[in-house]
Amino acid sequence: MKIPLNRSETTTADEAAVLTSLRSGHQHGDGPFTKSCEKWFEENLGCARALLTNSGTDALEMAMLLAGIEPGDEVIMPSFTFVSTANAVALRGATPVFVDIRRDTLNIDEDLIESAITSKTKAIVPVHYAGIGCAMDRINAIAAKHNLQVIEDAAHASVANYGGKPLGSLGRMAAFSFHQTKNLSCGEGGALIVNDPGLIERAEILREKGTNRKAFARGEVDKYTWIDIGSSYLIPDFVSALLSSKLHRSRAITAARLRIFDRYNASLERFAYKGLLQLPHVPLDCQGNAHIFYMILPSPDIRDALQKALARDRIQASSHYIPLHSAPGAAGRTRVSGRMVVTDRVADTILRLPVYESLSFAEQSFVIEKVEAFFDGLTQSRMVSNRERELEMMP
Ligand SMILES: *Cc1c(COP(=O)(O)O)cnc(C)c1O
Repeated sequence: MKIPLNRSETTTADEAAVLTSLRSGHQHGDGPFTKSCEKWFEENLGCARALLTNSGTDALEMAMLLAGIEPGDEVIMPSFTFVSTANAVALRGATPVFVDIRRDTLNIDEDLIESAITSKTKAIVPVHYAGIGCAMDRINAIAAKHNLQVIEDAAHASVANYGGKPLGSLGRMAAFSFHQTKNLSCGEGGALIVNDPGLIERAEILREKGTNRKAFARGEVDKYTWIDIGSSYLIPDFVSALLSSKLHRSRAITAARLRIFDRYNASLERFAYKGLLQLPHVPLDCQGNAHIFYMILPSPDIRDALQKALARDRIQASSHYIPLHSAPGAAGRTRVSGRMVVTDRVADTILRLPVYESLSFAEQSFVIEKVEAFFDGLTQSRMVSNRERELEMMP
């Protein structure tokens, strides 16, 4: 039995949607499947406009263009995130400014944001790690006070809520990812969510290579031409077709993942009580989507030992981000605000367990047994070494 960290299933409905699209003859962007996916997001998020892109990275790049991020500007974000969050800013010649994360949710620590703000700060990019919402009320209040824009990196956050509202609907803009490893996936894909209606027109132009082709297609202008800077961020319609099929099943996919998440939590809780690990924390005002199930181990050595033990049983458990502030690409183009204590500690001690819709009950039982066996062994060896210590101290 081999259990990967992620596995993506293709249903016959997925295959049928792609085939329908291919046979329709519309293979390029902005076709009927793309539009129906965008409508889904507009209905489910209540956003002004959703625009599908080739990737979450594309959506973040578009967001930084729309936000008017320029050389000399600063954008606040966590260091514990994927490279694209920072690259979208660095590509504009602006500076990503890293702030430490919270111990409990691993999201940007809202208490540290204000001390990172300077006269150059233009935006804050909260990353909803593992699909658990950042403290958006606080973050939006800080942004309003300092006249900053909020752009949610919602790459992990499809079908998750904060304060009863969907993640992705809370910033001026948001970026979703439909990469194969994400909850809703079409291989490679993304969406830019525009919550400020004033940005819609320019967003459409940027995505269409800087032309007004979209307005032309709607019959609003009689020629289409170069209007602004832009690029080709459009997703092929048969890729959107795969996404549309996933959106139809989004509730089922999320429910299946949450069952797995809850079972890991319930099974491993006893080790958390003993202080042997930290389990994911979902604040009361958040509804997660089980994008990631992680454990924070007491030390890097224990994390590595558990990862190796699981690998011997052909279970793929993975660490996560190398903090961006210590990555080679950060040199000379980023700034660190304050200490990165939690970020560094989490990066060294986090381990993610397999979560995917088709992970069977028996497969998950196997994973849990192996994790339990590891901890039971660990507590025994610890007890032994404690006793040895006691014995040494005896007169
Ligand atoms: C996956 C991811 C992205 C990028 O999405 P792609 O679709 O792979 O380009 C950006 N930010 C975070 C936090 C991610 O996990």
